[in-house]
Amino acid sequence: MLFDAHTHLNFEEFSEDERAELARTISESDLAFIIDVGDNTASSSKAIEDAEKYPWCYAAVGIHPQHANSVCDETLLEIEKLAAHPKVKAIGEIGLDFYYGKDNKEEQIEAFRKQIRLANRLRMPIMIHTRDANQLTMDILTEEGAFSEERIGWFPPRLIDGKESPDARVQLHCYSGSPELALEYVKKGATISLGGPVTFKNGRKAMEVARAVPIEALLSETDAPYMAPEPLRGRQNRSEYVEHVVRRIALLHNMSFEETGRILTENGKRFFEIDE
Ligand SMILES: [Zn+2]
Repeated sequence: MLFDAHTHLNFEEFSEDERAELARTISESDLAFIIDVGDNTASSSKAIEDAEKYPWCYAAVGIHPQHANSVCDETLLEIEKLAAHPKVKAIGEIGLDFYYGKDNKEEQIEAFRKQIRLANRLRMPIMIHTRDANQLTMDILTEEGAFSEERIGWFPPRLIDGKESPDARVQLHCYSGSPELALEYVKKGATISLGGPVTFKNGRKAMEVARAVPIEALLSETDAPYMAPEPLRGRQNRSEYVEHVVRRIALLHNMSFEETGRILTENGKRFFEIDE
C-alpha cells in the first residue's frame, strides 16, 4: 500500500489523454491515495475536479509563492470557498520560494501569512513549499500560530516511538533542509515529506533527513510531474513512482518495503483525515 502525499495530477504538463491514462494506471497500482495539489485558484479547482472523478484522489488548495502576486481578498475568498469541498484536505501549497522569487519577497511573505491564517481559521492541515528560506519559513509558521497550543489542540496527538507527541498537521513538502532543522520541526508538531531527492545519487542530505526523522513523522510524495526518483530521474514523474521513494525510506530505516508503505500510508490517512 502506497500514499502520494503531494502530486499535481491536475497540472497542464499532463494532457487530458495522459491524465486519463495516469488515472487508469493509478487505479491498477498499489497506490491507496494521492493528494492532488493546486498552485493557484485555477489549478486548485482542477484538483477538485480530479478528486470528484476518482475515489483515491483528494485535493489541496492554495496559492504557491510563485503566484504570490495573485493573492488578494478575492482570490483568498475563492480558496476559502474551494476549501469547503469535502474532498479538500489541506491548504497548500503555500510558502516561500526565494530561489525563483528574489524580487518579491515581501509579497510572498504577506501571501504566506494570509494563507496560514486562513488554514488556522478553517482548522485545516497546511502544506508548505519552501526554497532558500528555511529559517524564515519556520519563523513565520511559528509567528502565525501554526504550532500554537491552540492549533495542536485541534488535532489528536500522534505516537512517536510509543510516546504521545503533538501533531500540528503542517507538512514540509519535499523537505530540503538539514536533519537538525527537521527534528526541530517534528518537535513542534510538523511532518516531513520526502520525494525524489531521497533517491538521488547526490541526495545525501535528504537521506540523512530520512534516517534521522522517526518514521511516524514522515510522508512519501512525488511532486509529479517534477522530481522523478532514481532510477527514472529525468523522466516525467508520476504518482506510481512513489514506490522508489518508499523503497529508499525502507532501506534507510531498516524496514521491509511493505511495512514502510503501510506505515507511510497510515501517516497520510491520519494527516489528511481520510477515513476509509
Ligand atoms: Zn508541488
